[in-house]
Amino acid sequence: MKTPREQLYEFLRSEVVGPLIDPEGDTLDEISSSPTEQFSAGLIFPQGTPLPDEINTDSNVVPEESVGSELGPSDIAVESGRFFPSAVGITFIVNEPCVLDLELRWARYRREGRKWKRTPHSISKVVKVTGEAFERESIAVAEGVNLSILTRRVAGGIAITASLINAIEYQDLADQTQGEPPRSAITANTLYEVALHIAPSAKLSVQQGSSLLGAADEDQELAFQYRRANTYAVGHGIAACWDLETNSVWTDAVPSVLVPGLTFTSPDQESLKRGLSLEYLAQSKAPLEALDKIASDYERWITSQAAIVATESLSSSQTLTAQRILDKQRLGLDRIRKGISVLRGNAIALKSFQLANLILLRQMHRNPEGKTTTEASWRLFQISFALVVIGDLDEDRTGSHCADLLWFPTGGGKTEAYLFLVAYEMVYRRLSSAGLDDGVVALSRYSLRLLTSQQFQRAAALMVAAELIRKEKPELGNKPFEVGLHVGQDASPKDIEAVEKKFAPAWRSGDSEFPIPYCVWCTQRYGILANEQDPRNSFFVGQDDVTIMCRNSACEIADVKLPVQFLQARVRRTRPTMVIATLDSFASLPCWSEDEVGMLGGVSSPAPSLVIQDELHLLTGPLGTADALYEAALDALMSVGGKKPKIIASTATIKHASAQSRLLYGREISVFPPAGVTPQDNYFSAATTSERDSRLYVGVMSVGASWQTTAVRTMSTLAQGPTRLPVEARDPYWTQVLYVSTTRTHGRVTGLLRDDVKARVTSKYSPAARQLPENTIVELMGSNDASQLVTTLERLQIKYPHKDTISALVTTSVIQVGVDIPRLGLISFVGQPYSNSEYIQASSRVGRVAAAPGLVITMFNHSKSRDRSFYESFKAYHDSLYRWVEPVSITPYSVTALERYLPAVLVAISRFGVRDLKASDPEQAIGEGGSAWGAQEFLLSRIEGLPREEFQQLQGTLEYLLRHWQEWVLSATSKGSATHWTSRGEGVASLVGFSNSSLWKIASSLRDVEAPVGFKPFGTGERL
Ligand SMILES: [Zn+2]
Repeated sequence: MKTPREQLYEFLRSEVVGPLIDPEGDTLDEISSSPTEQFSAGLIFPQGTPLPDEINTDSNVVPEESVGSELGPSDIAVESGRFFPSAVGITFIVNEPCVLDLELRWARYRREGRKWKRTPHSISKVVKVTGEAFERESIAVAEGVNLSILTRRVAGGIAITASLINAIEYQDLADQTQGEPPRSAITANTLYEVALHIAPSAKLSVQQGSSLLGAADEDQELAFQYRRANTYAVGHGIAACWDLETNSVWTDAVPSVLVPGLTFTSPDQESLKRGLSLEYLAQSKAPLEALDKIASDYERWITSQAAIVATESLSSSQTLTAQRILDKQRLGLDRIRKGISVLRGNAIALKSFQLANLILLRQMHRNPEGKTTTEASWRLFQISFALVVIGDLDEDRTGSHCADLLWFPTGGGKTEAYLFLVAYEMVYRRLSSAGLDDGVVALSRYSLRLLTSQQFQRAAALMVAAELIRKEKPELGNKPFEVGLHVGQDASPKDIEAVEKKFAPAWRSGDSEFPIPYCVWCTQRYGILANEQDPRNSFFVGQDDVTIMCRNSACEIADVKLPVQFLQARVRRTRPTMVIATLDSFASLPCWSEDEVGMLGGVSSPAPSLVIQDELHLLTGPLGTADALYEAALDALMSVGGKKPKIIASTATIKHASAQSRLLYGREISVFPPAGVTPQDNYFSAATTSERDSRLYVGVMSVGASWQTTAVRTMSTLAQGPTRLPVEARDPYWTQVLYVSTTRTHGRVTGLLRDDVKARVTSKYSPAARQLPENTIVELMGSNDASQLVTTLERLQIKYPHKDTISALVTTSVIQVGVDIPRLGLISFVGQPYSNSEYIQASSRVGRVAAAPGLVITMFNHSKSRDRSFYESFKAYHDSLYRWVEPVSITPYSVTALERYLPAVLVAISRFGVRDLKASDPEQAIGEGGSAWGAQEFLLSRIEGLPREEFQQLQGTLEYLLRHWQEWVLSATSKGSATHWTSRGEGVASLVGFSNSSLWKIASSLRDVEAPVGFKPFGTGERL
């Protein structure tokens, strides 16, 4: 019995390559449409078939001629790369001279009346390979069909390229008809379903990758981990597959690879149960032995890793690399043990740990039906990571520690891990200050506003739980535990006035979404009513704050103020326990008031002890570059009190994180969990053997058609496919997510769906054709406003069969983040995305639960050589998918970045303090021994160790800015006017602001891509 996913894959293959199958699953040997219009992959045309006129005129789809791979002879690469290819092939290496057992398959169609009749062909051949020198052999295997075998000596053995060639010449057809041959002649002389299967009598050898000589440690470690995921064959115009057990290689026009999901349960789960049980950890009198058991179990596993390596025959550099991997594991173990010893030696830490477990437990059991049936349990990595961080948090609380990166696949439960740490630390700070601590404990930052909404709600639930516990424990103090949302005043009201004027009317009318639409405890939707007296109303505008409360009398928190803050200025001033912020919301930092900066600590309140950066890989390009400079300002401000916050970050895809961290945070970063000696197991997670939990990746590359035609054919097939499944199996695949990399393609894909796909589905599959109502074809874009995004996300949850179930969702990279819809099982990529990280992140958005096994389709664009090479190496690429993640690229010390953002950063530090220096106005700051000079020193000291050019670039820009600042002060005072940091109206000179009336205009967002805003000509200041 085939699974629904297998049935869909088979349907796709039959529609794209052939033969067609009817709804009963029987092969159709007679079809009514022309086979060249029906099939788009696995076919080879008569040689020299010219491009159709309509293609010639569109320069976008004229194929680039491929240069050919190192191993492939260039003629087959060229031939298979043509718009109408006449050959496909495969290259592999054998270790010695041998005999090849070949099986060649193809099909032909010939016209009979109004139908096309199919004839399949299959031929076996045996070819001897001597490998003595360069040899080429061409064998006519059937009329118009040639087999070409090309052999040559290479490192590691004999490289063999076997190609199947359509030997018919277009020119001959033209000669026969004395002019342009009719389309049907081309169709009848095209070969379909072409396939090669080869079993050599000698052993397959590995195709050598690039040398690792001089590669970074991390690249060597990755190469070592993936040492068994080797490439044994490369395709030409078709994908190559292999199987080492049968020692054979073959071509596949619609290749598929099952990429295993992960399991988070240890084989010893049962014996570790206590250490993972929230209830046990919260309530046991002696919970630490249970944690010791986790550490010793990990230790045992590390020993077994060493044993695995010892059995392999490794090169000396591999041995060193393996040793490094094991050392990192042991370091991870030491840090876990250190966390446990902190709990053992510090009674407040232990009590905080237990109460934090209690808070999380309370939160997990919040649903109104009472306790969940299963016992609340940590995943191994969650509790272990918490111990690692707790170990550092105690470090005399000086914060001389590294940043920690939680590296885990999407959906693994990273949020719970850091919410637990927030709970631990907020309790710790209350207990160790006799309940008086009133600063922000954790600052959690997101690169996109879209991500903050869900996190705000999750954090709100945590705070509700913490509040319920606080009320039972007077030692936790009087100030409520709260979470604040800090996303800038465009997205959330600045103050109560903005609520009344702008936001409340839109919430009431439903034009924009309320920051928390549902009760976080009982999930009942809030009533946002015009009449505040109405007992169903959940939202009250007070003197200086908004009160939200659940009005469901069955809810545990009915009529209690929800512990949240979302008025921007108020969040800064009242310092909620946790702040969920966007990076952008700090762009205005130099213009905040003194008491608002209290959010980041200072003299009056402690600085946050935890800074959480979710989705670290998104801090790349211009955004990461801008943020890296702002990080310096935050770093200065948050260390005024003498301590530095612990930075924890998370991601599912990262490479060279340490370089990124040095630029962003000015410190080292440690990745947790440490990698295993194979990618399948790192102790905290392991590759699953369950197919339902694994994603099936499938590649389609059409030939003889433009990418639009290809996309229409594939999208139509994928739209119709689910109708062939049993009704109860359709939901995961009913919504086709379409991923496009560029906004330009985006509009075209939506247009194709609305017109061409609809038309093709109707004409091909009537009367069983699927309806694709216009309003079920939806776009999800980063440029959508917040309430559009929320609406689309809500609609995505609507299950089949419902009239509003989305049929197709066209989206861009925005889906990589924050889209967590468990029912989604199908995503198609229109072209290979530009980055592998993007590909992994986006494809991880489907198949998140076993009930919706993920199916990922990539429609490769035949006219792009990059797409072709991903397709031809489909198996090799997917066998080690995570290996190919690219490092992020940020350049904070480039001229453009410094010009744009350094003024704001310099002013923020000078104004609000660095170490023990601060100033009341710009004149004082720039005076002798003033804070501006302290800021300069701080910024320069922070990047010691970076390349000299970057250091000099920063130094030069700082000198220029400080001189500029001095001249401006002189000029202002000579005119008798006072100087201020920010705009105070007419007659007062201001240093920074959002308009040109200030000396330096600052960016209102970290995503500004316009001209530099910081600099404008002034006085005699030299140009930089
Ligand atoms: Zn409620």
